Amino acid sequence: MTEKVIPLADLRYQQSVPRIPAILETPSGLLSDALGRPLHDLRISVTDRCNFRCVYCMPKEVFDKDYAFLPQTSLLSFEEITRLARVFVAHGVEKLRLTGGEPLLRKHIERLIEMLAAITTPDGRPLDLTLTTNGSLLARKAQSLKDAGLKRVTVSLDALDETIFQRMNDVDFPVSDVLHGLDVAHRVGLGPIKVNMVVKAGANDDQILPMARHFKDSPFILRFIEYMDVGASNGWKMDEVIASAEVARRINEHMPIAPVAANYAGETARRWRYLDGGGEVGMISSVTQAFCGDCSRARLSTEGKLYTCLFASSGHDLRALMRSGRSDAEISSALAHLWRKRSDRYSEQRSIDTAGLRQDRRVEMSYIGG
Ligand code: SAM
Ligand code: SF4
Ligand code: SF4
Repeated sequence: MTEKVIPLADLRYQQSVPRIPAILETPSGLLSDALGRPLHDLRISVTDRCNFRCVYCMPKEVFDKDYAFLPQTSLLSFEEITRLARVFVAHGVEKLRLTGGEPLLRKHIERLIEMLAAITTPDGRPLDLTLTTNGSLLARKAQSLKDAGLKRVTVSLDALDETIFQRMNDVDFPVSDVLHGLDVAHRVGLGPIKVNMVVKAGANDDQILPMARHFKDSPFILRFIEYMDVGASNGWKMDEVIASAEVARRINEHMPIAPVAANYAGETARRWRYLDGGGEVGMISSVTQAFCGDCSRARLSTEGKLYTCLFASSGHDLRALMRSGRSDAEISSALAHLWRKRSDRYSEQRSIDTAGLRQDRRVEMSYIGG
């Protein structure tokens, strides 16, 4: 029997209201943090709910029928999300990713996408607007998402084998529906589409080769993600991590691959190409090869808290600023102040102490957004 893990304190309630600097500043679009990293990428969690119970993210024993998800009134409205997104874009953000929980569960998400798609960079370019989904509602929604202005999607899929996939999502969701969602998303032009597979030793690592074979020579780019110690409820252990180097070794043994140069600084995935021209695979090595040095990502939780790192234990309450009537200039200056102070580099520090740091003091991935 699995034991229920009860976090010591619900970190969703741990927060601070950002200070408004005495002198307000005009955003230059060139903000950088204490380690010289720009603010380039904003991930927005639009719901903390999900129709899956992936064992590494929302284990059933914790996210059960008694789990207190956020009430509707706590959620940022679409107007609030769009307002904050504009402030972030003025500071240099060019990429917005909607996530969750399962973002396609948020009602009228297409309306939010329309509102975000209307934002441009200060020099008039469109944003890179994307969304990460478990694919369960994708076949139904792909066309309306595309019509609303979404550029592309990333779809999570952890196995091709039905039994293994259902054991991973823990709600008996079938593989075929996700594959169908991928095809429809491709057909309506939501590409290039990336497929994310979290590899957990002993759970789905025998799916590495079948997944690689399936997506080789296809329009989809498969990426293997090292199982991370996010949140406090998945009972993460280092020996359940399969290093990307091992994933690459296993693939290379059957289908030779070689590393490719990164597209841009801060790219999370290391890219590899099949030597026979069969396309690419990516490896996201958050555990064994930390990439904090280039991390330009900010995260906005479902209820409007800014997290400057995936592993942060407290957020900065931007919703409180909005709901207390602060102006855009005040919020923008507060954000600039927060980002300049940012010195997070959790994964690099974890590499020094691989037993995992602060394991009971992290917010859940489904709340902060992956
Ligand atoms: N529900 C959507 C989905 O699954 O794509 C979006 C949210 S989910 C939190 C975003 C990504 O985080 C997914 O690709 C998921 O596989 C990944 N993820 C969740 N928990 C993880 C963990 N412990 N280690 C590594 N990746 C994880
Ligand atoms: Fe849901 Fe995505 Fe987490 Fe799976 S990884 S439980 S689909 S939020
Ligand atoms: Fe960025 Fe934090 Fe992840 Fe490092 S650990 S890459 S700083 S989110």
